Amino acid sequence: MDLGRARVPQGEVHVIVERCKECNFCIKYCPAQVLEYSTQTNDKGYHYPVMVADKADGCVYCKFCDLICPELAIYTTPVDGDADAG
Ligand code: SF4
Ligand code: SF4
Repeated sequence: MDLGRARVPQGEVHVIVERCKECNFCIKYCPAQVLEYSTQTNDKGYHYPVMVADKADGCVYCKFCDLICPELAIYTTPVDGDADAG
């Protein structure tokens, strides 16, 4: 049995801040609830997503935020060299 294969994948979240229009989709629909609005705004005045402070390692690399963002403003990459994780 390969227990190493059973771990939950982890993702790193990247936000292209100036593209965000604060639609809330990524925050609302993240299954791991690891995103929240920034306290700062981008140049257009929109709050963009940031990681929840105590959930910094909680992204499970489902890539749903990547797929749902209408502005292509957020994407994730695998952490820990998950070569086949997505
Ligand atoms: S990849 Fe999934 S778990 Fe990670 S921030 Fe996006 S929606 Fe949330
Ligand atoms: S889904 Fe995209 S545009 Fe909407 S809040 Fe998230 S990053 Fe911003």
